[in-house]
Amino acid sequence: MTEPRATILVVEDDPDIRRFVAAALRAEGHQVAESADARRGGIDAGTHKPDLAIVDLGLPDFDGLELIRRIRAWSTMPILVLSARSLERAKIDALDAGADDYVTKPFGVGELLARVRVALRHRARTAGGGSVVRMGAAEVDLARRVATREGRPVHLTPIEFRLLECLARHAGLVVTHRALLTEVWGPTHASDTHYLRIYLKQLRDKLEDDPVRPRHLLTETGVGYRLVPDE
Ligand code: CA
Repeated sequence: MTEPRATILVVEDDPDIRRFVAAALRAEGHQVAESADARRGGIDAGTHKPDLAIVDLGLPDFDGLELIRRIRAWSTMPILVLSARSLERAKIDALDAGADDYVTKPFGVGELLARVRVALRHRARTAGGGSVVRMGAAEVDLARRVATREGRPVHLTPIEFRLLECLARHAGLVVTHRALLTEVWGPTHASDTHYLRIYLKQLRDKLEDDPVRPRHLLTETGVGYRLVPDE
């Protein structure tokens, strides 16, 4: 599949990482704008109107988190965050502020480009898109509320369907515990993460080929879950 060329903004103060990221994106045929601080990033986001922004959280002038909030005030462009390993709280805050996904430093070029592809595709698909999710031998039609595995019907509860729906809307991207709980159970249950453990286990048992080593309903430790459908 050929991917569409895009304009991508990279906001990162570390010149080595910024050049590495920009070079990898240009090699894929994308146009790249580079900003070394948050203030410049905000201006460049407005003037270049990129299809995607990649934002480092630790920026010298003000926080990447604040930049994400400012961009979200006027744009729905996908935002990928660059974050240091183990800073789970920072990742969650960034996702809650409106970022779509993150890449953990240090990262390889393959991982970065895969995340970029998913985020750009997500943008292209947001308008319409299919409601059928394929995961190995399982197929879920979210519009018709029908699930099958190896061609045989699988019973999913209304809550299981809603969870899948929420994850599928962000297919390939991480969704935070809080976002899932708020959407499916309501804001008063925003911290009941044990609900998610229980329901995700049920979904894996019903849909995954090997529920112990899931390939489609993935755990992002401390942050949330990610649904990776078959292409
Ligand atoms: Ca930095």
